[in-house]
Amino acid sequence: MTQTEPTTVRPAPSSLAGASAFPDAVPALTPGAQAVPGRRILLAAPRGYCAGVDRAVDAVEKALAHYGAPIYVRKEIVHNRFVVETLAKRGAIFVNETDEVPEGARVVFSAHGVSPAVHAQAAARNLATIDATCPLVTKVHKEAVRFAGSDYDILLIGHAGHEEVEGTQGEAPRHIQVVNGPDEVDRVVVRDPDKVVWLSQTTLSVDETQETVQLLRQRFPNLQDPPSDDICYATQNRQVAVKHFAPRCDVVIVVGSANSSNSVRLVEVALESGAGAAHRVDTADEVREEWVAGATTVGLTSGASVPEILVRDVVARLGELGFGEVEEVRTATEDIMFSLPKNLRSDLKAAGEQPDRPHRARS
Ligand code: SF4
Repeated sequence: MTQTEPTTVRPAPSSLAGASAFPDAVPALTPGAQAVPGRRILLAAPRGYCAGVDRAVDAVEKALAHYGAPIYVRKEIVHNRFVVETLAKRGAIFVNETDEVPEGARVVFSAHGVSPAVHAQAAARNLATIDATCPLVTKVHKEAVRFAGSDYDILLIGHAGHEEVEGTQGEAPRHIQVVNGPDEVDRVVVRDPDKVVWLSQTTLSVDETQETVQLLRQRFPNLQDPPSDDICYATQNRQVAVKHFAPRCDVVIVVGSANSSNSVRLVEVALESGAGAAHRVDTADEVREEWVAGATTVGLTSGASVPEILVRDVVARLGELGFGEVEEVRTATEDIMFSLPKNLRSDLKAAGEQPDRPHRARS
């Protein structure tokens, strides 16, 4: 089959409007597609936006609409380049630390969470804060505080330097040490091997985390488990979906940014689960023709911070490359939704604005 290199680069979508809406169906054949019989896309479901990302992005949009621009946001609100760029165009100013925010201004904390020290810095600068920390990250913070209060050594499995890990570690820095996967188990030192608990970042690979836990348990047989799974429902569901279709895929394409932990994990999971190859792209124009040149089945999914519009673009791009048939492969249905941060919600209500969001269909 002869295929030519595409000459048009698809412009980045300019609006988030509709981006958070998860369509129930994706067109089977995109307009203009040159379908080649037998070439198909398996589309993972669930994919894309999780409830925590949906809430955080909505919080920034609502804050911009209610208070007006600029709204400062500490760190990327979620780890997705398109979302950040789009919000920046609308008046969000992204900063690394609160000392970059003018005294008294309004700042949103990202879905990844912040440590108590960051809250204190914001208070010292008299900043008005909107905390968009995902409630499932807050749950891990609370676990850390509780176990530290009982003087446990806490082994936090996660990626050192990731914002979520920094935020959780900041809750109890004297009790928490970060374990960055199986290779770091041997260097863990605890005070009392009978008083050790493990917690984890919410967006890790389920299988690799279990491997790390097993190795830790070999060293500390009385290692305590977290009260409930720290790896969140969205991370787990997206990994299960990829595991399910990967053995049937010549190639898996994951839509997500390079700094999105759960998106990067999906590439790893696809490869470990039998996909012939796996690639991550931020946007459709990064899909390379040679990746799919010899393929008949391409798996497609997206990380938890990815708006559906970016997936649709990849479907269209694959359509141009001959993949005209789309089959959605569903392994779970999600209907979780989180309320907006409390103070934002109160301000919206006081102004007679609608704080409740229309329930979005989820994939
Ligand atoms: S990936 Fe999980 S923990 Fe992170 S924002 Fe989404 S629901 Fe919350």
